[in-house]
Amino acid sequence: LAPARLLDHRADFPGLVTADGAPWHYLDTAATAQKPRAVIDAIARAYGPDYATVHRGVYARSADMTIAYENARSKAARFIGGREEETVFVRGATEGINLVAHSWGMANLKPGDRIMLSQLEHHSNIVPWQLVAERTGAEIDVAPLTEDGRIDLDALASMLTERHKMVALAHVSNVLGSVLDARRAADIAHSVGALLLLDGCQAVPRLPVDVAALDCDFYVYSAHKLYGPTGIGVLWGRAALLEAMPPWQGGGAMIDRVTFARTTFAPPPQRFEAGTPHIAGAVGLAAAIDYVEAIGVEAIHAHECALVAEAQEALAGINAIQVFGPKDSAGILSFAMQGVHPHDIGTILDEANVAIRAGHHCAQPLMDHLGVPATARASFGVYSNSDDVEALVRGLDRVRRIFG
Ligand code: PMP
Repeated sequence: LAPARLLDHRADFPGLVTADGAPWHYLDTAATAQKPRAVIDAIARAYGPDYATVHRGVYARSADMTIAYENARSKAARFIGGREEETVFVRGATEGINLVAHSWGMANLKPGDRIMLSQLEHHSNIVPWQLVAERTGAEIDVAPLTEDGRIDLDALASMLTERHKMVALAHVSNVLGSVLDARRAADIAHSVGALLLLDGCQAVPRLPVDVAALDCDFYVYSAHKLYGPTGIGVLWGRAALLEAMPPWQGGGAMIDRVTFARTTFAPPPQRFEAGTPHIAGAVGLAAAIDYVEAIGVEAIHAHECALVAEAQEALAGINAIQVFGPKDSAGILSFAMQGVHPHDIGTILDEANVAIRAGHHCAQPLMDHLGVPATARASFGVYSNSDDVEALVRGLDRVRRIFG
């Protein structure tokens, strides 16, 4: 890709300098993205001059905050092609998957039913299903990966039976960057009457997403990976599915009428939002979506693809480095260096102001599949640039010299 495809938004992000004012080569965006000034300012306003609770106040500021909170919901819905009544605010993708596993799962799974996951899932798309499987008697199957680290949809299709009620897959792998053919996964799941849940944590910041076109049934994402705040995320679900799902947490704001004899519940999405919500989080997420949409997700995708290509080429030139995952990985690059533990790579890179992730990335079954305890992972964002790639490569050269 021509350098012209690279974006230059670094100046929007106050977090990208060290305490001494040197450039910080932040290559851990897949863990959490740095925040643009626009998001930080929106959160400060929400906690400052605009602050009030939502949905209950009779005074003007609370009414204004309610409008801002519900506008954030519309924005978060529209961003992935959904509608607000299908869009539940949750703490993050983890809570979104737990909500579906517990509310939908406890109501719909029985002994003998099966849940299909894949070998590359994040623990947050494994453990909630294990918990609900234990409680319902359902069982879990694991779709294998192709040689280059994608979910093998041919194999998945051949394993799928009428007993499968749920297929839950990562839209983009947080370790390998591999992109799922989500529309095909939906067709395969629906061919046996199963639902498809997509974990969109790593997809939403780097690919245009349209739940209607993908034809999935549930979609989850976290704001903090999309340049927004921590503590808030989105569960999108088909209206009819959410409508039929029982509450999973009880409290204020999720009810219709409470008596000691009987309580009735609000319709979705309120049914699933017990308690005072993360008001400033929703406002911050809306600002993050505005920020991303002003640049364009397609432009961010092209930018990250260009940087991944640069990094892949440079790493291929370093002896003893093995890169995992497909050539066309989306913004995320995992690798190992022969004879060096990824934690040592991370520590030495940190001395050169290069921040990568080293570990199992909450994907231990994938590490087992790759035959390594951990990998080093560099991941890119809208603010990343060729200097970051150069700093990474220089740092890796130093690692190689230190370890001989
Ligand atoms: N799924 C994937 C693919 C992820 O990358 C992550 C975050 N690393 C999660 C789920 C969990 O997201 P959160 O911690 O924001 O709930």
